[in-house]
Amino acid sequence: MFSICFPLTFLLFLCACLAWVKEMERSGVQNKKPWHSNGLRFECQRCGNCCRGEPGYIWVNVKEADAISRHMQESPSKFAEKYLRKVGHRISLLERPNGDCILYSNGCSIYEVRPKQCRTFPFWRSNLKSKGTWEALKGFCQGVDRGRLHTQDKIDRILKDNLP
Ligand code: SF4
Repeated sequence: MFSICFPLTFLLFLCACLAWVKEMERSGVQNKKPWHSNGLRFECQRCGNCCRGEPGYIWVNVKEADAISRHMQESPSKFAEKYLRKVGHRISLLERPNGDCILYSNGCSIYEVRPKQCRTFPFWRSNLKSKGTWEALKGFCQGVDRGRLHTQDKIDRILKDNLP
């Protein structure tokens, strides 16, 4: 009797220990606060650096393209012809040869209806990887660490719904 019960009890004890360790690890991960848990300050200074220079993509979806064309009082087809390009399955606004967004002209000419990619800058995953990536952004974006405080909750909501 003793020879069967002892290994069984030991096995159950081992399983309980493993479950406890797993639970501790899980709650440890959950309790670990992100580096931006106190929120981050950001207020656009309208320097235009994120709209100019370096070539890239300014992704727009159909709904956004529609809103921009209406704002510019262009027909959707004319707007697409003049300002959009297809990149694989996605659509991007065109850029000028120097990399500036085609809709940048001494400031964003469609600010009220700018696409999500522009609206959510600088709260992009790539910029929020660490305090270091956020700090490094200061050399590019004059709004970083200035003005309004954005809570972690708000930033996380933006990140959830974010592209880059
Ligand atoms: S780089 Fe920053 S401050 Fe400059 S226009 Fe873009 S968001 Fe605004």
